[in-house]
Formats: sequence, structure tokens, C-alpha cells
Amino acid sequence: MNLFDVYPIMDIEPVRGDGCYVYDKENNKYLDLYGGHAVVSIGHSHPVYVRHIEEQLRKIAFYSNSIVIPQQQKLAQMLGKASGCNDYSLFLCSSGAEANENAIKLASFRNGRKKILSFYRSFHGRTHGAVVATDNSGICAPVNDRNHVIFVHLNDIDAVAKELSKGDVCAVIIEGIQGLAGIYTPDIDFLKALRELCTQFDTDLILDEVQSGYGRSGKFFAFQYSDIRPDIITVAKGMGNGFPVAGVLIDNKYEAKHGMLGTTFGGGYLACAASIAVLEVMNQEALVENARKTGEYLIEQLKNIQQIKEVRGKGLMIGMEFDKPIAALRNKLVSENRIFTGTASDKNVMRLLPPLTLSIEQADVFLDSLKGQLGKI
Ligand code: PLP
Repeated sequence: MNLFDVYPIMDIEPVRGDGCYVYDKENNKYLDLYGGHAVVSIGHSHPVYVRHIEEQLRKIAFYSNSIVIPQQQKLAQMLGKASGCNDYSLFLCSSGAEANENAIKLASFRNGRKKILSFYRSFHGRTHGAVVATDNSGICAPVNDRNHVIFVHLNDIDAVAKELSKGDVCAVIIEGIQGLAGIYTPDIDFLKALRELCTQFDTDLILDEVQSGYGRSGKFFAFQYSDIRPDIITVAKGMGNGFPVAGVLIDNKYEAKHGMLGTTFGGGYLACAASIAVLEVMNQEALVENARKTGEYLIEQLKNIQQIKEVRGKGLMIGMEFDKPIAALRNKLVSENRIFTGTASDKNVMRLLPPLTLSIEQADVFLDSLKGQLGKI
């Protein structure tokens, strides 16, 4: 059987990882500034992570959500403490799309409405509820009917107010920082005003922190720069450092009922072990703070490079916009400097989403390599 060929791939085969580096079959060492698409948060094969998963695997690997799994409670408590969102409840699932899907359902269960307000350039995943709220008709099949979804421009509070005042919008879904589009951050005042409008019109505010959460922005959640309180927060990617795990953080105004949400794999022992290890390492190594510091340094240095039109982002979620496509530059960085970087849906934007452990020295290696490549063009 062949694989269903849906991914454009680079001709590199990593066989092991260590911190911010991956190694191929010939033992070539690559500096990873992409983190497997913002997933590798505490670094590749961190020993604490390996130990937690290994120990759990030897005891019991899986049982369904029909028995007591104390690790779930432990994870919820650790996440509440690390994020400052202790007074939310946690629903565990396995992917970012699934988390958003459940967030939208929760909102709709609560207020009985079905219209969704989303933003141009957004990405929320590929399952039905998530993909219809994503601004990319190219990945919607005819079955993904979008009649109930409205898109407005990021930071256009008047457009939001106009729609919400009709009184029939179930939820607003917004990324803490728009990732795939090429790194666009909602304005602080916009998020504050959005929160107020949602409260005024009984519309639920869903913060998609799947990419921007878990310390990546230099705060645990990117929305925390605005000091607002979302009704629902979704997390995935960095949560498991590569183990498929996701979560929905749910305000206490939502009433849980047995059978209301559910999923087979969500919150299994191994997912919990991976997620507990991630939070333990993030705390021990102060990785949110490291993301802020190293990110600030990188952004400041990148702003001095004249070939870059604009540098956007916060912490270690960075977009660099050039005035032409970055594909050739990205290929040179891989083949000549052995550095992984990321793309965006805007072909002129390069994205950096490294492990949160990235050091200033490693950032300097990237900066020197980038300047070297740009000097040759
Ligand atoms: N939301 C955001 C902001 C994302 O960046 C992504 C994935 O890139 C998703 C949701 C979907 O996550 P998953 O691919 O785990 O379903």
C-alpha cells in the first residue's frame, strides 16, 4: 500500500533528536527552528519526557475514560497552576482541530445558537466545525457548508460589533496569534473590546491557543498580553511535545453533563505522562521566560536586517516577511547551514517556531547563517 500523498516533503530523514537539534541517517546535525510545526516545546527527546513516558508504558499504556485515571486530575492541576487558569475545567482530547470542534459545540450547547464569527487569514483545523471557521475555502469540501460562518478582518472591532449586535452569534473564535497565515497578533485593545462585546451579546469567546499557547508567545497564553478572560481556551501542539494530546479549558459557567462530550483516546495514560513531563520541564527550566527573552532578542536582531520587510510576533513565534518568496532561502538554510525553518500560507513569510529551550547562542547561529545567505542573494 502507498501513502496517500498529501504532504509536500523535504528530502531529509531525521532519525533522532536532542534538544534543539535533529540528526539524519548520516549523523548530520540540524538546528531546528521549526519544532515540527510548533509542537516540540521542551526540546527533542528531553530525558524527563522520555522517563515519564517510559515509566508509564511499563505500567499500563491505555484504558478508556470509563475508569479512574488520577493522572488526568494531576495534569489539570498542573496546567491550571502553570497557566494561571486554575478556575477553568479541562476536557482532554487528541488534536487541535478536535479541541476547537468541542469548544464550538460547548458554546452552541450553552447558548443554543449556531452562527460562528471568525477572522480572515484564520486557521483552526480540518475537521468539519474547525475547517468551516478557517479562512481557506480550498480545504473545505462541499460537505463543509459555511453558510453559518461570518469572516471579518482582524482588529476590525466595528465589523465585529455589527455582527454580534444581531444577537444570533454563538461564538467568536480567534487565534491568540494567527500562525499559519504568517504571524499576525490581535491588538491588545481589540481583544479587550472583543471580550466586552461578547459579554454584552451573550456570545462565547473561544481563544484558539493551539499554536500560540503553552509558553510560545513568552506568556503561557498569548491572549494574556491583553489581560482578558476567554470563555473557552483550546490547546494542543506544545502540550505533549509530540505526543498527540489536546485540551479544552472551560469556564465554570458551562454545565457538564455525562455524555455531552467524549473521545476514546483523550486523556489516556501516555498522553497524561507526556503532558505532565512537559509542564514539569517548563517549570524547572523556566521555559516561558526563556521564550520571552530569546524571542525578544531574535526579533530585535531580525529587525536590523534590511532585506526583511517586516518582523512580526511575540516570544518564539516569529514571522519574517520578505518582498519575494522564501522557498529558495529556506532550502539554502537547510542544505548549506543545516537549519530548519517554517513556511506560512503567505509564500513571502518565513516562520520560526523553535523549541522553547532555544538559547541566545543558537539564535545567533541562525542569525549569522541567515545574514550569510541574504548576503549571497
Ligand atoms: N488551530 C491552530 C491555531 C493551528 O495552528 C492548528 C494547526 O496547525 C490547529 C488549530 C489544528 O491543529 P491539529 O492539526 O492538531 O488538528
